[in-house]
Amino acid sequence: MKKVMIDAGHGGSDPGAVGHGMQEKSLVLMIAKGIEAELSAYQVEVKLTRATDRIVSLTDRARQANTWGADLFVSIHINAGGGTGFESFTHPSAGRTTKTMQQTIHQAIIKQLNVRDRGQKTANFAVLRETEMPAVLTESLFIDHVQDAKLLKKRSTIEAIVAGHREGIVNALALSKKHKLSVHDQLYRVIVDNKQVGAYTEAKNAAKQVEAHFGRAKSIRLERV
Ligand SMILES: [Zn+2]
Repeated sequence: MKKVMIDAGHGGSDPGAVGHGMQEKSLVLMIAKGIEAELSAYQVEVKLTRATDRIVSLTDRARQANTWGADLFVSIHINAGGGTGFESFTHPSAGRTTKTMQQTIHQAIIKQLNVRDRGQKTANFAVLRETEMPAVLTESLFIDHVQDAKLLKKRSTIEAIVAGHREGIVNALALSKKHKLSVHDQLYRVIVDNKQVGAYTEAKNAAKQVEAHFGRAKSIRLERV
């Protein structure tokens, strides 16, 4: 099964960017946990570099992913410093696989967020440099920008950021959904003389088939699968 390491930036004594009464470390942790929750519906293993408000060094974040053997590392950040919108980063030496994944994740987030697309960029960030697997760092909106800050205070925006990342990761790794048996998936198989003669989602239809063969076969079995 594929493995994804979700990295919520900053934490503990490092709040990250701050603005309009918000701290980057809290927003990105909420987003990371949201992504983890949504990915639980897919066939993928997910780990967080931090699941609480604590400090984790950049080297340790990369080491966690390397030791675990993650297939993808996604670092979640909120921007600051004069600007608006969304941008993503990979390391300048990243190969084609990583660039393709960046594009997939970037586009999925832009589709959900509907904000200014600042582009797919490169930067020599430690977590991108020290990770041994494809690694993408996202900067969703600017905490110190009036309009972006307003958006970041809305639950619907956080949900859109989460959904964009989830969709991007699912597409980048071609993940399939976990098979969940529901009432509609239940099948009643009618087996006559060791040969399946029908499969029905409704018990009454299976019963009719059983009746039809009754007395005319050596064995009739009804299996529920
Ligand atoms: Zn940050």
